[in-house]
Amino acid sequence: MDYKELADIIFPNAKEISYYEEKYPERDLPEGAMVTRFAPSPTGFVHIGGLFGATVDRKMAQQTGGIFILRIEDTDQKREIENGVVQIVESLKDFDIIPDEGMTGENSEIGNYGPYKQSERKDIYQAYAKSLIAKGLAYPCFATTEELEEMRQKQEALKIRPGYYGKWAKYRNIPADIAAEKIKNGENYIIRMKSQGNENRKIRHHDLIKGNIDFPENDQDIVIIKSDGLPTYHFAHAIDDHLMHVTHVIRGDEWVSSIPLHLELFHLLEFKTPKYAHTAAIMKEENGGKRKISKRKDPEAAVSYYHEEGIPTDAVVEYLLNIANSNFENWRRTNQDKKIDDFQLELNKMSVSGAVFDLVKLLDISKNVISKYSAEKIYEETVVWAKRYDTELERLLKNDKEYAILVFNIERGNIKPRKDIAKWSDVKNSIIYMYDDEFDNMKEEYAFQKITNKEEIKTILKEYITSYYNKEDTKQIWFDKMKDLAEKLGYAREVKEYKQEPERYKGHVGDISTVLRVALTRRANTPDLYEIMQIIGEERIQKRFRKWF
Ligand code: GLU
Repeated sequence: MDYKELADIIFPNAKEISYYEEKYPERDLPEGAMVTRFAPSPTGFVHIGGLFGATVDRKMAQQTGGIFILRIEDTDQKREIENGVVQIVESLKDFDIIPDEGMTGENSEIGNYGPYKQSERKDIYQAYAKSLIAKGLAYPCFATTEELEEMRQKQEALKIRPGYYGKWAKYRNIPADIAAEKIKNGENYIIRMKSQGNENRKIRHHDLIKGNIDFPENDQDIVIIKSDGLPTYHFAHAIDDHLMHVTHVIRGDEWVSSIPLHLELFHLLEFKTPKYAHTAAIMKEENGGKRKISKRKDPEAAVSYYHEEGIPTDAVVEYLLNIANSNFENWRRTNQDKKIDDFQLELNKMSVSGAVFDLVKLLDISKNVISKYSAEKIYEETVVWAKRYDTELERLLKNDKEYAILVFNIERGNIKPRKDIAKWSDVKNSIIYMYDDEFDNMKEEYAFQKITNKEEIKTILKEYITSYYNKEDTKQIWFDKMKDLAEKLGYAREVKEYKQEPERYKGHVGDISTVLRVALTRRANTPDLYEIMQIIGEERIQKRFRKWF
């Protein structure tokens, strides 16, 4: 019996591989176009590292006129959860990552190179496994768990490389008729690749991020089809990337060590190898050292965190590009108004050792991003966020949209816009004092600063409201009057004057305006006080002052 007959016994219904080669023809894309894919397992959870990878995948495809694919790798069915695919699709959508091809829902997809879920591609993998068996490049392995364990112990005792390879690979040279006999008798088996590699020979891999890396050739006869008939990741990814005509495999660097194996698979299958770019894991600083950001320890490892906190998508993507290419920051500085898509990401500028994730910096970027939004946009985005996470805020905003927009518009739209909002969950705190009921219920102490004497405070407020306040005043007049009031009550008109002769004054104009600010907002720091006063209006100002009289 020859191997071709054995292959027919094992996979009697598998199609010829030429069928698939014709079904998935070369793509018609412009020169240099990259076809990339994000290929998570459907565990539902998207890690910040996954989002980082997907951002890079999408960006590279987009900026070269290529295709970005979302493929689901569900051959390890133990790890799956219900609705795992939908959750991934939705999480990516939250960050405006919409694949050109691939899964769009739990069981829906777009594109001509599918199915895009590996469990639906069983026939395809089996066809290729069959072709390898027929060529004597793969074989059924009947090793039992006990046999494998015994082999492992022997290798350990002899202090040699573990694994199923060379002379340790007991079924590597099993004659076709004996294998056929065992199969007929119902013995359990899996399919292994018959490695042609030699551990003493070196290969050189050029990685688009890590540069040249030398490896010994692979000689392990790895499993390609498991006992449930599904492929292993290694085998499936080779076939998928080939048939989907993926040009660039961008993936986490935990896969670097599999390169010799993957190169051999591509070689045995007679596929052209894609280019590989292995991205370093995102790190977190801890006690002066660095460690991988962890799903277990760091809430910010889950992308749902950004959504819950209300950090805008653009800010997160902007930050991820920042850690992807260190020249991004400079580019942003000189191209303030450009869209993220205008930045050209380069794989060879990506960090080899792993960028450190810095939440403070992300929030800084976010403040900047939000500072450029219009009041209307802030309103809309906050309402969407609040609808899900803070219904009280939603009610407040929806109650009087016009007023809310006036509030959001304070110190906005000018050259130096306010930067006090980093996330939608900050909004409530930053506007709450503009609403009467909420103001009345504010629990914080009045944060008077330098002037704390109650009588003095009363005097300042009374003087101001009776002799200086006029709602028609322009900002300049308002400001001049504040100085007049300061002077009248024995404070310096200017901070500078006060600093020169502190003993001459009770304080300076800034101390006076702080009293007004705190009485009106209960905050020592707010955006422009004049604008706040214009919006809350005379009646409320009177009311808030009266509390002090
Ligand atoms: N399913 C693999 C993972 O989740 C994908 C690796 C790859 O991109 O090839 O790690």
